[in-house]
Amino acid sequence: MMRAMRTLLTFVLCTLLAPTVALADLTVVATLPDLAALAHAVGGDDVEVTALAPPNQDPHYVDPRPNLILPLNRADLLIVNGLELEVGWLPPLQVAARNGRIQTGGPGYFDASTVVRRMDVPTGKVDRAMGDVHPGGNPHFLYDPRQARVIVGALATHMARLDPDNAADYARRAAALDEQLAATAERHAARFAALPAEKRRVITYHASLTYLFDWLGIEAAQTVEPRPGIPPTPAHTARVLSTMKAHDVRLVVQESYYPRKTSATLARLVGGAVTVLPGSTRFDEGEGYLAHVDDIAERLYAALSN
Ligand SMILES: [Zn+2]
Repeated sequence: MMRAMRTLLTFVLCTLLAPTVALADLTVVATLPDLAALAHAVGGDDVEVTALAPPNQDPHYVDPRPNLILPLNRADLLIVNGLELEVGWLPPLQVAARNGRIQTGGPGYFDASTVVRRMDVPTGKVDRAMGDVHPGGNPHFLYDPRQARVIVGALATHMARLDPDNAADYARRAAALDEQLAATAERHAARFAALPAEKRRVITYHASLTYLFDWLGIEAAQTVEPRPGIPPTPAHTARVLSTMKAHDVRLVVQESYYPRKTSATLARLVGGAVTVLPGSTRFDEGEGYLAHVDDIAERLYAALSN
């Protein structure tokens, strides 16, 4: 009787659970929505992807809510930006997840910063007085689709290692995305290059757009923050204003999650404008990475060619 019951129960459970279990071969968690979108594009139906950070949150300061622990506990693969961008919130979540696979250096740990071309790598010793400077280099490389190409290739390799049965699919999707990323990168770069050089000079709030500007040939004359992560001071704001006046810079560019008051004041004093860029792909709303970088480039082009 017991055995019959158990068999019946097993049958019912398997029938009920089978469709859910069969959905994805690889459970993936990405710290940032951009990385989640890239993973989704490479993994397709073979992966189930969760993003830890929402797109409207500063990636340096994500709220490590306890509900982020469960996806990490189940993950086969954790994709991180790296270069200490998540150092303030990810490590305690990794510990709480009790999942050996996704610990730093584990088989299911992929650090995107290890494959990209790093910029702003400090040459001397880094100390606190310099602000939130990352010793390994500027971590905001996800704004550049050329960097994303490298990440996508490495991601396909890593996914194939964890799930060899679907290796060909990962490689195929990565190759298709790579082609699209290359085309998008080239198209926008050519368009921006046609703008006069004096139009391609801006002020940014944080030193987070270095890679974006490297891609699009834009010069960041100064940042509203006196040092990375340090809020604007009156003395520094006065310096930024004189730079803007001296070089006829009229545009302040920043992400949605940074304060806008000082930027707005500076723009007003030179008769310019503030352009607010989305900080990340709206992965939770089904947006893809390509659409996100396209959107950013379009907004920036519209503001610069004004
Ligand atoms: Zn930063």
